[in-house]
Amino acid sequence: MTLGLREFHPFEAAGRRYLYLVPSAAVFALDDCSEAILAELGRGPQPLAELTQTLAARFDAVEVTDTIAELQRVRALGEMAAKAAPMPKIVPLRPVPLQTLVVNVTNQCNLACTYCYEYGEDKIVDTENGQQPKFMSEETARESVEFALRESRENKHAHITFFGGETLMNFPVLKSTIAYARRRAAEVGKDIDFSLTTNATLLQPDVIEFLANQRVGVTISIDGPEEMQDKFRVFNNGQGSYAMAAPKIKALLQRHRTRPVGARVTLTRQTLDVRRIYQHLSEELGFWEVGFAPVTTAPGRDYAIADQGFDHLLEQFRALAADYLAAALENRHHGFSNVRETLQEIHHGHAKAYPCGAGIGLMGVSTDGRVALCHRFAGSDDHGLGTVKDGVSWERQQAFLDTHHVANKTDCSTCWARPICAGGCYHEANTRYGTTQAPNLHYCEWIRGWTHTCLEIYGELAEKNPAFLSQFDDEPTEKVS
Ligand code: SF4
Ligand code: SF4
Repeated sequence: MTLGLREFHPFEAAGRRYLYLVPSAAVFALDDCSEAILAELGRGPQPLAELTQTLAARFDAVEVTDTIAELQRVRALGEMAAKAAPMPKIVPLRPVPLQTLVVNVTNQCNLACTYCYEYGEDKIVDTENGQQPKFMSEETARESVEFALRESRENKHAHITFFGGETLMNFPVLKSTIAYARRRAAEVGKDIDFSLTTNATLLQPDVIEFLANQRVGVTISIDGPEEMQDKFRVFNNGQGSYAMAAPKIKALLQRHRTRPVGARVTLTRQTLDVRRIYQHLSEELGFWEVGFAPVTTAPGRDYAIADQGFDHLLEQFRALAADYLAAALENRHHGFSNVRETLQEIHHGHAKAYPCGAGIGLMGVSTDGRVALCHRFAGSDDHGLGTVKDGVSWERQQAFLDTHHVANKTDCSTCWARPICAGGCYHEANTRYGTTQAPNLHYCEWIRGWTHTCLEIYGELAEKNPAFLSQFDDEPTEKVS
């Protein structure tokens, strides 16, 4: 029997060597014997007898045999004669319970952010001139609630996220929908909770009071201190929004203590100073968590992040991640949510077949009640799955799952980061390459670099403060980006 290496990504943490096993998405700590076996096979495949003989001088024979068996079991190595099985393509055979319904209560916005995926140069739905209502009616919102409760199926829990446009431009419907949803959830014996995303400019005292009293999770879209926020997040007349948003955010953070309030930052070529942004939002304004996402854009836009920009971004992320690790080792909170989310994914060890829950555990509803893959596709006929009134077509969902499985993405099938990335956001792919089926190959180096950093942090914590990782034991809800 001749043995050779299989698919894994090695990394070091706390002076120890680890493997990130692909495709099982497990983290495996190496000891001296397993390291020596892998080093030998790193020179090329070897017959088992030769391998054990080479190692006999340094290790006990039983230890070598057991370690080889263990490495075979976790598929870090395997028989050369038996070809590694191709990536399995397992598609759900029946509808999956919906975890999060994103309800776009309006497609109107009081800001005119240059890079906006809904109103900017790369929009896929014409919400300005199209047929859809500008604001969701109370009736459609109620139908959305019924849909969320129904499609959560056997799950005890349902979650609704309100989105826009600027969500708070339809505050009356949002308010009445929460009351309705709580009543209906109680009637059908389910828990339901709510969150929303807002640009903060409409956070009047009565709105803040309501959000705090109703325990609504709030995410604020904000890009950093005034000079960064006002580069792109502007009103129609070009005036920046920081001066209006900041005092309202402070008032919200002071009053809304029932749930942590997070900030969501869009990074552009011009605003890549991640540490400065984090410091401002976390320390100067007081957000509990801050999450960053590179802007979604077709290549060539003035604000698009190019290759060197991603290198710079990675450096910045790494520096901030080091702060996160230092805090985690001392059981202090640090609000860099990109690390927390990736650690959670590593901890769960699910090898993803799909990059996110879009079209499975997460769906988006447009103002006229049409259901699409996620909020970013809401209202797009090309990415529709049905309506909240009549339900979604399982055949369409299945066809989507079949064509979008990571096994279909040739470049991803040999990439060690695929258990976490699985090709990346469909909306980004659609904007960049004109199809949701394409992998986001423009940011692979960035994704692999970032995943490697998070693996190192995971290993450090596993070694030095394993109790910290137990916070990730719970299953996450679908993230809305
Ligand atoms: S998009 Fe790139 S980084 Fe992501 S899984 Fe595919 S090849 Fe890997
Ligand atoms: S990652 Fe992209 S496709 Fe998935 S839910 Fe978020 S915006 Fe939609």
